[in-house]
Amino acid sequence: MFRTHTCGELGIEQVDSEVTLCGWVDSYRDHGGGLFVDLRDRYGLTQVVFNPPNTSSEVIEASKQLRNEFVIKVTGKVAARPEGMANPKLATGEIEVRVVAMEVLNESVTPPFTPGQTDLPGEDLRLKHRYLDLRRPQMQDTLVLRSQIIKKMRDYFEENNFIDVETPVLGRSTPEGARDYLVPSRIHHSQFFALPQSPQLYKQILMVAGYDRYVQVARCFRDEDLRADRQPEFTQLDMEMSFVDSDDVIGMIDGLVAKTAKEILGIDVPLPLPRMTYDEAMERFGHDAPDLRFGMEIVDCTDLAGKCEFRVFRGVADAGNKVRAINAKGAAPKYSRRLIDELTEYVQQDFGAKGLAWFKVEADGKLASPIAKNFSDEEKAAFAERLAAEPNDLLLFIADTWEVSCKALYGLRKRLGAELELYDPKELHCSWVVEFPMFDFDDEEKRWVAMHHPFTAPRPQDLEMLESDPGKCRAQAYDLVINGSEAGGGTIRIHDQAIQAKVFELLGLTPEMAQERFGFLLEALQFGAPPHGGIALGVDRWVMLFAFLDNIRDCIAFPKTQRAADLMTGAPGAVDSPQLDELSLRVVPLHEK
Ligand code: ASP
Repeated sequence: MFRTHTCGELGIEQVDSEVTLCGWVDSYRDHGGGLFVDLRDRYGLTQVVFNPPNTSSEVIEASKQLRNEFVIKVTGKVAARPEGMANPKLATGEIEVRVVAMEVLNESVTPPFTPGQTDLPGEDLRLKHRYLDLRRPQMQDTLVLRSQIIKKMRDYFEENNFIDVETPVLGRSTPEGARDYLVPSRIHHSQFFALPQSPQLYKQILMVAGYDRYVQVARCFRDEDLRADRQPEFTQLDMEMSFVDSDDVIGMIDGLVAKTAKEILGIDVPLPLPRMTYDEAMERFGHDAPDLRFGMEIVDCTDLAGKCEFRVFRGVADAGNKVRAINAKGAAPKYSRRLIDELTEYVQQDFGAKGLAWFKVEADGKLASPIAKNFSDEEKAAFAERLAAEPNDLLLFIADTWEVSCKALYGLRKRLGAELELYDPKELHCSWVVEFPMFDFDDEEKRWVAMHHPFTAPRPQDLEMLESDPGKCRAQAYDLVINGSEAGGGTIRIHDQAIQAKVFELLGLTPEMAQERFGFLLEALQFGAPPHGGIALGVDRWVMLFAFLDNIRDCIAFPKTQRAADLMTGAPGAVDSPQLDELSLRVVPLHEK
């Protein structure tokens, strides 16, 4: 080994011992007589000093060539820093190493940014020179955390008798949900593999094969337009169990959440985690992944609106739409007219709301607003009572369709929760949303689509509604929510062929189409499939939540940009024509498309 210690471990106990450290020059300061260098590795920083009389004039001379990010090896004696020079912010801040010998292991060209600089460079530059970015202590801490989380997950499932099984990356395209990434086959002319969107079908087949507890840290690929916290290539903790119902899967994950929160963050998460149905989540929070760290719940006022004089409210209620509101407690003094105008613009532009109606509650409890004159005193009092309004509250109303009111109030609540600092950003709130609808109606295509995937089992008590009222049919589906983010989702699967056939029919899949797409699963299910279900947890998302970060790219060593490109390697890139010839592929120029 080149070194005796890392740059993060020396302290007062090692004073007077001779040590050798290796690392990168994080910064250097020339003090006339000699040089102070902060030497960095992934464990920390140590101050190393090139000063007479400890350091010979030759070594001091050699040290003058040092620049940022040079890789060096130094040998010297550990010494307590002089009186008043200790740095309590640094783990090694009480000592320094007085250098006797130094070797430059490698030089560095001038870096476009340095890992130690406090102002973060633009993300494109960070991604292009990811090796420099990954030297930043924060990135290193996050990747260490990621490694710990994955280790805890693996330990937990092993303790619970799960078997880790790898499933193929080159598979068959089974389009459902997102778009597949395709891989042309050289050997099979005009045939393609698809990269897995998830190991869903394989893990179900493993259940048929009798591996009753399966787990895998799986790479998944979805060729979607990327949202802020999505990546085309991501990691799931994927698991499946046989002879279980929803409660069993949820209970298994409850244990994992408690273990990781405790062992990684020292946070006690009380179990069982709270559960809420999908319908309740939409009603109270306008979203299926509600942030339960704070209140400000949505209150339905459609009945009051239907009886009031204000034409806009009444019209919306009469048309069968909704008037719903939130009460931002104590927020009235903090939101000027200009800021409220910004909120209005936000709900209009981001959620297509027609507008935002608002009231400020005055000291005497009366409601003030440009629209206040449209309401009688009794009507205003009724709205105030419904929203438990008190002086200085800000009441925000959306009068629109159910969907728009959900989206806009969800957005407002999220924004105000952050702006008003209604939660501790270092808190971890975990819960479940259960009983999702089986189907969503696709207005454009005029057909039912599976809300999860076509193998999701309906609740037994809803079976009849598969035919009579599919929209009301609820699934044995559950999502794990952490701090308002979907941290995982899964379902109990259909293992009964008659129900499966009915679901395919509803989804507009003829038996031939179903056979063509996932015939291999349907066939396997005929050979004694046990009742089974499972879940997938988004590992990248878990790291982001456990690190209290808001950029998923900061949780992945080599992420893609929001335009699905890797700026460091230049992927995706063009390939040589011989490569295309071998695959019998021809590229159509963009202008001919
Ligand atoms: N395969 C599902 C997904 O990737 C998860 C599951 O149902 O287990 O979302």
